[in-house]
Amino acid sequence: MSKRKLSRRQAWRIEKIQQEREARAAKRDANLDQLDGDADNSGDKSNNTQLGPEQLGLVIAHFGTQVEVESLSLTIDKNPPVKEIAVKQQVDEPQERIRRRCHFRANLGSLVTGDHVVFRDGNPMGVIVAVKERKTALSRPDPYGDLKTIAANIDRILIVIAPVPRPHTQLVDRYIVAAETLGIKAALVINKTDLINDSNRDTFDNFVDLYRGLNYEVITASTYKAIDQDDNNEEEYEGLTDLQEFLADHTSVFVGQSGVGKSSLINVLIPDLNLQVGEISESNQKGTHTTTTAQLFHFPKGGDLIDSPGIREFGLWHMSGEDILEGFIELRPFIGHCKFRDCQHKKEPQCAILGAYEDGIISSYRMESYEALRESTEK
Ligand code: GDP
Ligand code: ZN
Repeated sequence: MSKRKLSRRQAWRIEKIQQEREARAAKRDANLDQLDGDADNSGDKSNNTQLGPEQLGLVIAHFGTQVEVESLSLTIDKNPPVKEIAVKQQVDEPQERIRRRCHFRANLGSLVTGDHVVFRDGNPMGVIVAVKERKTALSRPDPYGDLKTIAANIDRILIVIAPVPRPHTQLVDRYIVAAETLGIKAALVINKTDLINDSNRDTFDNFVDLYRGLNYEVITASTYKAIDQDDNNEEEYEGLTDLQEFLADHTSVFVGQSGVGKSSLINVLIPDLNLQVGEISESNQKGTHTTTTAQLFHFPKGGDLIDSPGIREFGLWHMSGEDILEGFIELRPFIGHCKFRDCQHKKEPQCAILGAYEDGIISSYRMESYEALRESTEK
């Protein structure tokens, strides 16, 4: 990971901040031990009176040294059948779930929205006892250039494009490559179909054919165009059902350029949320990236959303050359089949990747994307 070079003064300041942070963390942990009934840290918590039993939870927001946790079950340690019943009830009645601010010990590392945890409920604060292993992790560089995890356990990414603003070249492929390397299923959402006309129809038809041909889900949608449902004559937004089906039972993020209609789509999917819709200036947006943390929301028809301005742009930074090649699924079968082991897939003889292109396995549009993304890593 590339780090900016720091002056001695900056290095000293960071060291000092670090020390202060550690001291605060130690103090916090000591306070937690008391709350936990384990004041001498001996593991004996028998004198605990303030905290409830251990239960499974989901981190839905993050505030410095605290997280907001939503319970996923009743007690997990004693009575597993109760847990199953509890989870089922919660699906039917999501308003029943407990939400609690919780402290967490410094030794648990950094917790992020989407983390699955074991916690003990308490009033006014609970305590996180353990963090479960993450299935996926989204990260972005912090101001020092180190990658920092910003959300966990996301398994769907919806890449939103629209006729206006016009898609940046390679943006879709860049997001797809990022998703592929993280093991997250990507879908393309072509939004604002009400703005599709003779001047741009071919472009979008080509997108649909190309990505469906690669087995990616492509959903066309509009929050401006309502359609009549045959059976009950009720109006519904275009693409709404497809979106709901894709999102159900998963944890998703919406990504894409500012102005393509992500907030509008989310507002239709979660009417209570009332996200601000409209053109946000670039500079404005940059400001919010550093301050707004990711939050988890439930879709009423099933599935969860994790959203923040930072997440909406995840994956748009450094990826290695190998990541990029791996991210083009139609090229995967050819990886490792070049004549030269250190083949750069540029002009080498008997290059399997160039061969795949010559044989029409990868389209020229995607090959250009591959080359452009690769080039961006070589700068
Ligand atoms: P975001 O920046 O991706 O979250 O985009 P917003 O949801 O804030 O929408 C940006 C602009 O596009 C707003 O002016 C919306 O009213 C408009 N918009 C959103 N969805 C649609 C749509 O389906 N059709 C059209 N024509 N405009 C839309
Ligand atoms: Zn090659």
